Amino acid sequence: MFFSKSFIPILKNNPAEAKIKSHQLMLRTGMIKQSSAGIYSWLPLGFKVMKKIEKIVREEQDKIGAQEILMPTIQSAEIWRESGRYKDYGEEMLRIKDRQSRDMLYGPTNEELVTDIFRTSVKSYKSLPQLLYHIQWKFRDELRPRFGIMRCREFYMKDAYSFDINDDEALFSYNKFFLAYLKTFKRLNLSAIPMAADTGPIGGNLSHEFIILADTGESKIYTDKRIFDVKSDETKLQKESLKNLRGEFEKFYSVTDEKYNEKDFNDKVPEEFRLKTKGIEVGHIFYFGDKYSKPMNSSVDFQGKKEFVKMGSYGVGVSRLVGAIIEAKYDDKKEIMKWPMSVSPYDCAIIPLINKGDKKNIDKAINLTKKLKEHNVDYIIDDTEESFSAKMKKFNLIGIPFQIIIGNKTEGDNFEFINVGNDSKNLNIDEIVKIINQSKKN
Ligand code: ATP
Ligand code: MG
Repeated sequence: MFFSKSFIPILKNNPAEAKIKSHQLMLRTGMIKQSSAGIYSWLPLGFKVMKKIEKIVREEQDKIGAQEILMPTIQSAEIWRESGRYKDYGEEMLRIKDRQSRDMLYGPTNEELVTDIFRTSVKSYKSLPQLLYHIQWKFRDELRPRFGIMRCREFYMKDAYSFDINDDEALFSYNKFFLAYLKTFKRLNLSAIPMAADTGPIGGNLSHEFIILADTGESKIYTDKRIFDVKSDETKLQKESLKNLRGEFEKFYSVTDEKYNEKDFNDKVPEEFRLKTKGIEVGHIFYFGDKYSKPMNSSVDFQGKKEFVKMGSYGVGVSRLVGAIIEAKYDDKKEIMKWPMSVSPYDCAIIPLINKGDKKNIDKAINLTKKLKEHNVDYIIDDTEESFSAKMKKFNLIGIPFQIIIGNKTEGDNFEFINVGNDSKNLNIDEIVKIINQSKKN
């Protein structure tokens, strides 16, 4: 891809309305464009990052045996009346009437819809467990949409739902998602801490929020620092080992605002490990038993008896994660963004120096691309006539992790290669490809 042909509408300055780094950067580098309050279009750079996040989220859901479906964004109010939430959900729900005057709504979440799908199709406990998920736009008419796509009205969410015959099996499902979340956030290069959380309007009695630490986060958290060192690597998809995994985290006091109790915090956490700080909620899992299956009459046959299924739900803010990664990775001191390799819009930027219209460095850049394509390295060549320093400044904002600089001194087989944030090295294209592809494996 040539920069001059790409659709990356860069802004000269930070837009005044953006108060936090991710919002500034996403507008400035043309990742998103606001279309109305809390509603955004995703432009190529932002969309590429979001799609890569989505792919990782999807792969980790598939690994625990969840099956992907796609439910609509517009739902009928009927099923929400059945669960009792049509009234309870309040003004965050966008209510719509169709031409027959039927009450419809833009789904803020999908417990009702998925319960309806389940109850009409599954009749026997022998089909359990069922783990279903979809990745779909949601709408919540937030009172104060702010911080760009971090708290917006229309956002992209992965939501999964589990159906089991009893509490024990349902907790097994819950723990599978707990593991999938740890793995997902790890692949995104984020340190997301599971914290005991309140269940809010979803209801139920067991819940964890996955939080990444950031000063700009809206969640207040109270945690024992030792939770950061808990390892989650070698866990099998098996009841006992998953229970132990969750247990390892739950050894340490770690809660959000609503669950905070000062006495407990002081009693349970030695002073040197106490951390009161802020974070961004990127995922939230709930176990709520028969809260929806009972009022919606969703049951299976178990040894001649009707049993209401036990359900949980599991959300990841796919679009919020784009902003959350910026908040976590942006280097304030150096004023440099660097995307984790797993989600970067491109693997590598090729930055040729163009002197008074002399395009020979662009030709050198084009010569490199055959090797890059052969080894699946995704690149963008900056063929614009901006000054070299302007280009470097621009790429420091865009955050592509590797840069190949082609200057006037670039002779023979070697190029100036920068792993952003580190010193540059002179390397040939084979060495460069090797380093880039190695970093994709990590
Ligand atoms: P919050 O406390 O941030 O308002 P929530 O608890 O209402 O979120 P959930 O119902 O748990 O949200 O939704 C699952 C995930 O969807 C959240 O963990 C978050 O990552 C994302 N999410 C929720 N609301 C928004 C929003 N308004 N904009 C962007 N992402 C959101
Ligand atoms: Mg939540």
